[in-house]
Amino acid sequence: MRKNIVAGNWKMNNDLPETEALISDLLKQKQTSNAEVIIAPTAVNLYQAFNATRNSNIEVVAQNMHFAENGAYTGEISAAMLKSVGVNTVIIGHSERRAYFNETDDLLAKKVDTALKNDLRVIFCFGEELNDRKSGNHETVVENQIKNALFHREASAFKNIILAYEPVWAIGTGETASPEQAQDMHKYIRQTLNTKYGKEVSQDMTILYGGSVKPANAKEIFSKPDVDGGLIGGAALKAEDFYAIINAF
Ligand code: PEP
Repeated sequence: MRKNIVAGNWKMNNDLPETEALISDLLKQKQTSNAEVIIAPTAVNLYQAFNATRNSNIEVVAQNMHFAENGAYTGEISAAMLKSVGVNTVIIGHSERRAYFNETDDLLAKKVDTALKNDLRVIFCFGEELNDRKSGNHETVVENQIKNALFHREASAFKNIILAYEPVWAIGTGETASPEQAQDMHKYIRQTLNTKYGKEVSQDMTILYGGSVKPANAKEIFSKPDVDGGLIGGAALKAEDFYAIINAF
């Protein structure tokens, strides 16, 4: 079912004491919207974060996982390991993983399959680069990213997938897609889903926007009919800002 979600991607920030301090600050905030609240701390702190948020409505999710079930993949983390520390959702395909760790659509398709097989919900990220937008190819790029990593799946799989449109040029740059640009792309994504899977899948799909969302711009972005929430980087590292965004609904 389509939901309002605000997810904070902490990236490679916050050691254990900082993670505990930020969660303690988050737990002091007042939520006035009905948005689902998600935080994605670094993997080493997932267990502590899970325990610290146990009696709250904050869900702790992972930023990444490997596609293999287990084995000789030094330094990697499996879906079963995530499940064993209380994680039920994983972010897959963040643009930083695509750019710095060479994650391709084929690799991401495998990760999506492994996550779903292990009953993990997937937040699947994608988005065009600045030159794609400048050359007018942004819709084609985004459509291909979605098709290549997700369209081998059956319609029912989409119940456990959340989409996050994150134009690369707007991530961590202070530059935000205008609410109209976000709406246009989200509408296009929903149409693409509709063409392949029909109305139910496309209307039920939660599509988040990510890219320099802040307390000052969240309300306008979230007011767009096809924007169901946000994936937040920088502004998720301050409890007051994060909750101002959550309460922008
Ligand atoms: C992100 O990393 O997913 C993100 C949207 O970052 P920021 O909000 O800092 O642009």
